[in-house]
Amino acid sequence: MEPLYESKISCICCETVFITTRVRPSFKKATAVDSDFCGHYAKGTNPEFYVVRVCPKCGFASTENGFSSLSEVQRKSYYERIGNNWRGQNFSGERSIEEAMMSYKLALLTAQVTDSKDRVIASILHHIAWLYRYQNNETEEKKFLTFALEAYIRVFETEGISLNNAKLMYLIGELSRRTGEFNEAVKWFSRVVNDKKIVDAAMIRACREQWQLIREESEARRLSLSGTSS
Ligand SMILES: [Zn+2]
Repeated sequence: MEPLYESKISCICCETVFITTRVRPSFKKATAVDSDFCGHYAKGTNPEFYVVRVCPKCGFASTENGFSSLSEVQRKSYYERIGNNWRGQNFSGERSIEEAMMSYKLALLTAQVTDSKDRVIASILHHIAWLYRYQNNETEEKKFLTFALEAYIRVFETEGISLNNAKLMYLIGELSRRTGEFNEAVKWFSRVVNDKKIVDAAMIRACREQWQLIREESEARRLSLSGTSS
C-alpha cells in the first residue's frame, strides 16, 4: 500500500474543489519525537509535509485548525494582498521538503492577511522551524522558534491559565530553552511544576525534566568555562 492518498476538499475562499494529499494513518509512525513535539519519520511518510492545503486556483493556504469560512472582509483582504498575484501552482501529490516549506510560508501569509488567531499562526511558525530543523538549518530554525515563542506568549496572554494550558506553558518554556532564554524557560517550567491547579501529569513531568536539563547544561558550561581559564 502507498503511504499517500488523495482526498477532495473545497476551498473556503473561492469554492474550487481540489485534491489534497495526505499520509495514511498506518504510516504516521514517528521514529523519534523531539522535546517540542517535532516528529521524525521515515522518508516519504512525514505527515507534517501535508498539513497545509493549498488551493491551486486562488492560492488560499490553510490548515485544519484555520477558519471554516471567510467573511467578505477577509476574502477581500486575501485577494488584494495575495490572491490577485497568484500565478497558479499545484501542491497535490508527493511534496519535497522545499514544497512543504513553501506551503507553510503561504499558510503563514494567508493567516496573517485574514487576521487568524495567534494559536493558528504560532503553530504554523513552529512547523516552519521544524522544517528548518529537518534541513539542519539552525539559524533559520532558531529565528522561527523565536517567532513561534512570541506568538505562543500572545496566546497565553489572551487565554490565561484556562482549561488545558499546561501544554502551552510547557511549550513556551521549551522554546525559551531552545532559543537560549534559560531564565525565562525556568520561570515557565517552575510555574507548571508549582501551580497546584495544574494536574496534567505528563506536562508536569516534562517541565521537571527540561528544568533539570537546564541545570545540568549550565553546570557543564560552568565547568568548561573554569576549565579553559585555568
Ligand atoms: Zn481557492
